[in-house]
Amino acid sequence: MTEKQIYNCHTHIFTHRHVPNRYLSLMGMPLIPVLRHRFLRRRLPRYLQMVIFWSRSDFLNRVAAFYHAAMFDRQEDCYCELASFYPPKTRFVVLPMDLAYMGAGTPLVNIDRQHEELAALAKVFPEIIPFAHIDPRRPDALRRLRTLVEEHGFKGVKIYPPLGYDPNDRVLMTEIYPYMVRNGLPLMSHCSQGGVATKDEAAESARLRTHPDRYRHVMDRFPLLRVCLGHFGGIRQWTLYFDDPTKRELTWQARIRSLIKEEGYTNLYTDISYTVFHFQDNVPLLKIFLEDPDLAPRILFGSDYYMAYNERFSEKRLSIDLRAALGERLFWKIANDNPRRYLGIDE
Ligand SMILES: [Zn+2]
Repeated sequence: MTEKQIYNCHTHIFTHRHVPNRYLSLMGMPLIPVLRHRFLRRRLPRYLQMVIFWSRSDFLNRVAAFYHAAMFDRQEDCYCELASFYPPKTRFVVLPMDLAYMGAGTPLVNIDRQHEELAALAKVFPEIIPFAHIDPRRPDALRRLRTLVEEHGFKGVKIYPPLGYDPNDRVLMTEIYPYMVRNGLPLMSHCSQGGVATKDEAAESARLRTHPDRYRHVMDRFPLLRVCLGHFGGIRQWTLYFDDPTKRELTWQARIRSLIKEEGYTNLYTDISYTVFHFQDNVPLLKIFLEDPDLAPRILFGSDYYMAYNERFSEKRLSIDLRAALGERLFWKIANDNPRRYLGIDE
């Protein structure tokens, strides 16, 4: 019997060359140029580990995770490390990032080059499932997407509303989603309160735009569009779900489940990337959700590599420990059956 392939539905391999200088800043000071500095590249991780250990700071955790990617100059190096953590033939949905419009400066390498580099890499490593990052504010969004899909075999679209646009954006609604439905392309969207956001506005407006309920109208208009809300609401919302009974049903985690179950959106998925790295806290509840026949077909395995790089739980152990914790039946549901349905891949 041949072993099934694992599908990791949520990974990143973009590097420091693809992020603007003020992508991360500390009290107004841009950190990326510091992280790029060759002298510091070797010394910083150890110092950072010590500070994180004492401060338990979310922000520094993010800095350290990104720092890991800043060590690589090529997406290929990043990808090879990722692949080394999984069995051979594991497939990876790779999600690029277009960070040019977040108000943090211009990246060294623009999104077109990032997409081209990824397209070339996917030809060498057929395990890669490349998605296109579409920022609807970039001119010619549809023409760019068509080229990536029709000439380079891209398989889906990534959007990231905290960067400054709405899932109901006019270009997305009138051009991008209709094209995706016609071509059977799935949508992946960032749906947690963590991660990066535009520097130009209050965090609250980014949060409102990223909320799971913002997708209701999109799904009503495009019922055939397969939508994945990444991160299952995110770690903070899972913690809130456990800690505050008065807010439980309002958490993004509960909202996503309700959109799937009570409101019956049949092409809505969610992935467990990053959130699953708080393994002890979150995997038991995940296992209970997976026994629910309505939710079980809609949850996808993903890791968010390299964003969780600095969590105490390691990517190397993730698929093994998760398989042991969930058991064969549930593991292969989220790591193979559901991803293939979401991606539209027949084996
Ligand atoms: Zn991500």
